[in-house]
Amino acid sequence: MNIQSRKETKDAGSQTMLTHYGDESFYGAVVPPVFMNTLFSFESYEAFQRSQFQDEAFYYSRVSNPTPQIAEKKLAALEKGEAAKLFASGMAAISSTLLHCLRQGDHVVCSYPIYNGTYQLLQTLLIKFGITADYVDFRQLDQVRAAIKPNTKLLYCEGYSTFFMDVFDIPAVVEIAKQHKLLTIMDNTCATPATMRPIEWGIDIVIHSASKYLSGHSDVTAGVVISTQSWIDGLANNDAILLGASLAPLDAWLLTRGLKTFGVRMKQHAESGRQIAALLCKHPQVARVNLPLLREHEQYELAVSQFSDITGLFSFELHGGADAVRRLMNSLRLFQIGVSWGGFESLIYSPGLSIHPEQTTRTEWETRLERTIRMSIGLEDVEDLMDDLQRGLDEL
Ligand SMILES: *Cc1c(COP(=O)(O)O)cnc(C)c1O
Repeated sequence: MNIQSRKETKDAGSQTMLTHYGDESFYGAVVPPVFMNTLFSFESYEAFQRSQFQDEAFYYSRVSNPTPQIAEKKLAALEKGEAAKLFASGMAAISSTLLHCLRQGDHVVCSYPIYNGTYQLLQTLLIKFGITADYVDFRQLDQVRAAIKPNTKLLYCEGYSTFFMDVFDIPAVVEIAKQHKLLTIMDNTCATPATMRPIEWGIDIVIHSASKYLSGHSDVTAGVVISTQSWIDGLANNDAILLGASLAPLDAWLLTRGLKTFGVRMKQHAESGRQIAALLCKHPQVARVNLPLLREHEQYELAVSQFSDITGLFSFELHGGADAVRRLMNSLRLFQIGVSWGGFESLIYSPGLSIHPEQTTRTEWETRLERTIRMSIGLEDVEDLMDDLQRGLDEL
C-alpha cells in the first residue's frame, strides 16, 4: 500500500498501523504523553456548552480522555472494527457490554466451557436482574439451535473454549444467530487479532481482556469492546459512563506501549509454542495436547480454516493425573505458577486447582481438569524452556 503520511496508516499492515496510527502529534514527541488530568477546563460558558454536543470534545476523564483514545483507535483498527471502548478490566468490558445489551427477562445462549468470571457474572449477578442463560458446547450446532428461546437476545462465545481450547464453526453459529435475529458477542482474548478477527467472520461485538497478550507485559489490567461506530457510541456515551469502569490514562498509555510490540511478541510466542507443543506431543508422560492447530488434533481442519496461527497458550494432560501435575508444576524452574497469561513470562496453571483439596470424590470432568496443565509460553529463550520441560517430564 502507498502510505503518504503517518496519518494514513489505518489500513496498513497491522504492525505499521500499531506503530503510527492514532498517536496524535504533541510537539513531535514519538511517545504520546499521558493525560493524567481528571477534567478539562474551558474559556467560556459557550465553549463548555459546545463540548457537550461535540464528538471529539473532552471535559471529564471518566467520560473520555485523549490517552485511552489513542489505544482505542489502534485496537479498533487491529480488529478491523470501526470503533473501540476501553474499560478498567476485561470483566468491566464484559459486564458493561452485557448490562448494555440485556434487560429484565432476556435470555443468553453462552458457549461452555467459558471464562469463569463470565460464567459467574451470568449465574450470580445478572440473574438478580431477571436475565437468564443456558450453556452449550458450541461444537454441537444442534444444541445451540435447541437452546434458543423466544426471549433469547444474544449468543455469547469465546473463539477457544477455556482450558481445553476447543473451537467451533464460527460461520455456522453466525448463520444461526442471523436466522434468529440474535446479537453475537465473542471474547477473542485467547486467539487475539494476530490469529483471528471475529468481525471478519460476521461476529457483531468483540471483547478482549487487554490484560493478556494485547498489553503483554503483565503490568496492566484492562479490557476493550470493539464493534461498529454507532454501537460503540451507544455504549460509550450512555451506560459505560454510568457504570464508570473507564480505563485510567496511565494504564491506557502502558497498553499503547505494549501494542507497539504486539506483532513481534505474537510471532515469538507462536514460534516457541510450536516447539514446546512438539516436545509435549512426543513425550510418553503426555496423554494429550489441547491445541487444535496441531495436525494430531481431531479439530485440525476446522481450526486451520479459522485461525492463521497458534499463540503461546494451550494445555496438555498427563497420564499420571493430579499427582503428576502437582509434581511437574513443583519441579519446573522457568515456568512460574500463576493464573493469568499472555505476558513475557512463561506461566503454568492447572484448572484442577479450583477443586477444594478436601473434596473426596471427582466427576469425570473434574478428573480431566486435574490432569491438565495450561501453559502460557513466554519470551524466554525457547531452548531453556524446552530443557526445563524435558527434565521435568523425564523425572516424573
Ligand atoms: C482474563 C480473561 C478475562 C477477564 O479479564 P480481566 O482483565 O482479568 O478482567 C475475560 N476473558 C478471558 C478469556 C480471559 O482470559
